[in-house]
Amino acid sequence: MSIFSIAIHGGAGTLVKGLMTKELEAQYRDALKVAREAGYNVLKDGGSAIDAVETSVRFLEDSPLFNAGKGSVFTAEGTHEMDAAIMEGENLEAGAVSLITGIKNPIALARDVMDKSYHVFLAGEGAMKFAEDQGYEVESPNYFYDEIRYKQWQGIKDSDNFQLDHSVKKDGKFGTVGAVACDQNGNIAAATSTGGMTNKKWGRVGDSPMIGAGNYANNKTCAVSCTGSGEFFIRGVVAYDVSCLMEFRDLSLEDAADEVINKRILEIKGDGGLIAVDAKGNIAMPFNTEGMYRACKSSNGREEISIYK
Ligand code: ASP
Repeated sequence: MSIFSIAIHGGAGTLVKGLMTKELEAQYRDALKVAREAGYNVLKDGGSAIDAVETSVRFLEDSPLFNAGKGSVFTAEGTHEMDAAIMEGENLEAGAVSLITGIKNPIALARDVMDKSYHVFLAGEGAMKFAEDQGYEVESPNYFYDEIRYKQWQGIKDSDNFQLDHSVKKDGKFGTVGAVACDQNGNIAAATSTGGMTNKKWGRVGDSPMIGAGNYANNKTCAVSCTGSGEFFIRGVVAYDVSCLMEFRDLSLEDAADEVINKRILEIKGDGGLIAVDAKGNIAMPFNTEGMYRACKSSNGREEISIYK
């Protein structure tokens, strides 16, 4: 049996320590712990990496603290448009959805695209038709409402600006969620889910649902889930770049992840971070912002729940 590990994130950004209350921090830590344990238990019971990452991400989507599922940010039209992707590293199977509305757990829909359709990536109306065919309930906008996200949107809604849900106001609300895992068989997987960026318009799609940009898994190298300003992560093809540095330059997981987040993405002024595992159960969680909600646990004894550097 090989070492099994899981890492999760709840978004990276400019969180100012002084503005975070003890109570709120405790809530974030609790939510991260619950999501991490849920995924870790799947692995401990011999379950697959893909089931573990889906399980953890569902918990994070159900928490209004994070910008995914319940608590997703507002678009310029005052709606919620969510993106998600999931991928497994054994056969490179993947599923992704974008611009979906009213779906409680976008990561489950991405998984269904992977398992139950011949396609990889469904968007907008078509993705919603697929969800309907699969028997998904469509929740009312009230389910996704979060007062802080609403206020953030009110603050910039009449401008052309769009922003990370936590970036300008520095109010401690981080966003996008993700999980990566390595199971007892040495198979790895990645899952990412997000409401995107506040005040986004014109059908803007971020990096999160794009295979290779915000989410990627390959047993030969690594499983990666990203968070940050998606435009830079798309241009940097970040998740796949980490994999390429391991495959073609023989870098370790730690060095490859660090090179991408603290060098290559910075060169194009990209802000954010990522979580990654390899098939030996190693974990990396670099970020170039002030903080990243993150947690990990490995059967080798490594265990962490952190927010700041
Ligand atoms: N990467 C996400 C996006 O651009 C945002 C985030 O990570 O918070 O949609």
